[in-house]
Amino acid sequence: MKPVLALVGRPNVGKSTLFNRLTKTRDAIVADFAGLTRDRHYGNGHHGKIEFIVVDTGGFEPDAADGVVREMGKQTRQAVAEADVVVFVVDGREGLSAQDHDIAKFLRRLGKTCVLVANKAEGMKDGVRLGEFFELGLGEVHAISAAHGQGLKPLLDQVLGPFAEAQLEQEAQDEAN
Ligand code: GDP
Ligand code: MG
Repeated sequence: MKPVLALVGRPNVGKSTLFNRLTKTRDAIVADFAGLTRDRHYGNGHHGKIEFIVVDTGGFEPDAADGVVREMGKQTRQAVAEADVVVFVVDGREGLSAQDHDIAKFLRRLGKTCVLVANKAEGMKDGVRLGEFFELGLGEVHAISAAHGQGLKPLLDQVLGPFAEAQLEQEAQDEAN
């Protein structure tokens, strides 16, 4: 079984750029304006020998007064429900926003494996702005640059590590049969 990673986060943090980077395609729509990718969008990725599925979400679109999580698209909720790991993307340049807090609260309640990723961190000295993201209560902050392909290896090592052994064992078994 390939693990499913769902990319979530407020608009414009770089989810689709990360999706493209992980799947090595340009299938996801990367846009300078918020909330263009409204549907779920699946792609295949691999990290060394380990294969995974990644889901891009248009996500937590704040177009009601109700708070970002409440009017989060059904598609996004489903993507999160189906995911083995939720990759919560925040903007390492802009820093923490109220929406990030709302999303984090939702994710913490969910009790799913969740990794926190601060994107757009190219050229930033580690720790300069990243410290504030610890406030989200989701543990370690992974600094990456989806646009420049930086920081992805350690991220994927950690995210996929728990699935790697099972997948390689399964392959070995399939070959033996
Ligand atoms: P989404 O709404 O979360 O899917 O965000 P997009 O992937 O559409 O990206 C939003 C904007 O951020 C685009 O202008 C991207 O070019 C830009 N962006 C994405 N990743 C990075 C990055 O690593 N560094 C910088 N500087 N900009 C990025
Ligand atoms: Mg997008």
